[in-house]
Amino acid sequence: MSLFANVPLAPRDPILGLNEAYAADPRSNKVNLGVGVYYDDNGKIPLLACVREAETAMAANPKPRGYQPIEGPAHYTTAVQHLLFGPQSPLLAEKRVVTAQGLGGTGALRIGADLLKRIVPDASVYISAPSWENHRGIFEAAGFSVREYRYFDAQTGGVDFAGMIADLEAAPAHSIIVLHACCHNPTGADLTEAQWQTVVEVCRAKALVPFLDMAYQGFAEGIDADAVAVRRFCDAGIPVLISSSFSKNFSLYGERVGALSIVTTTADEAARVLSQLKRVIRTNYSNPPTHGAALVATVLADSALRQQWETELAGMRDRIRAMRQGLRARLEAAVPGRDFTFVTAQRGMFSYTGLTPEQVERLQRDFGIYAVRSGRICVAALNSHNLDTVADAIAAVLR
Ligand code: PMP
Repeated sequence: MSLFANVPLAPRDPILGLNEAYAADPRSNKVNLGVGVYYDDNGKIPLLACVREAETAMAANPKPRGYQPIEGPAHYTTAVQHLLFGPQSPLLAEKRVVTAQGLGGTGALRIGADLLKRIVPDASVYISAPSWENHRGIFEAAGFSVREYRYFDAQTGGVDFAGMIADLEAAPAHSIIVLHACCHNPTGADLTEAQWQTVVEVCRAKALVPFLDMAYQGFAEGIDADAVAVRRFCDAGIPVLISSSFSKNFSLYGERVGALSIVTTTADEAARVLSQLKRVIRTNYSNPPTHGAALVATVLADSALRQQWETELAGMRDRIRAMRQGLRARLEAAVPGRDFTFVTAQRGMFSYTGLTPEQVERLQRDFGIYAVRSGRICVAALNSHNLDTVADAIAAVLR
């Protein structure tokens, strides 16, 4: 009998299935809002001008491709730290932060999870209800049991903060709490700075281990404003892990460029943590790839390219905001008496619309508008050409 005769078929990724159905749909006015990618106003994934310029310069002066350090090159990891903590952060001067390049945000989460499994093997991991679906998978794959804390309030389209705090307070000491630093995926509902401060206090009081997932820095308010959660945890002096991704804010999805940063209490602790993290990486993929990190480091180190990046990032952020405002205005006009303020209050690429699975199905069947069954839509897939079609269709299934 074949070794593989009894291998069961793993469940299909629901979003992949959605993409296939969308591709097979012959309607010319179809719209795919199920994606997790930023598209420009022409429905294309942008190649940022700053990236193109850095790439052109690199191609004109090609370098040999030796192995990188296990944790990635220092000019890259330092640039990541400056984005997260600010270049003047005393944590950096005190050498209390460990940063390693990761394979995208996903890879950074995974090496963080594998490291934590060595340090707190019996801890449980808490993720938001709901959360990015891979959070559960990543931490379960690392051997943790994964639970949920209350997060989204379907009544308001915002955060059930009282429920969240109650669940965090009930979590056993050393539980790992996965938090979306900004632009919560899938709901778009974020905490205020005052709410972050309360979460920091609970984590400190209950000896919880915060793990911030920063997949959208710059997509909500700005580079520094979006780091508010990171900075409040650092001010409190408690250990925190942070995964960064440059997939969205550099539009470098396929380059798989991200990083894991760990804030420790002393430089000596940082050195020991780094030594363990390097073991995790070494036995996993040995050392990280060169190209994507070189692009990011080049852009961030050059003042003109950096400025260009900030302008292009602001352009993506502003375009998403304009789509939110446009969608809200159209829905308010078409469905009077219903509250759509959540559309503009939510931040980042996604919105939990409150559409039921039946309404999502009708959107797809009757209008060729594809969304995730949960009612999540990708606001970054809206554009000036499809906004009216989408708003009309959503209004029709809501009426
Ligand atoms: N975390 C969250 C919350 C995300 O939304 C994503 C991307 N969809 C990731 C992590 C993974 O990012 P990357 O593609 O860089 O692995």
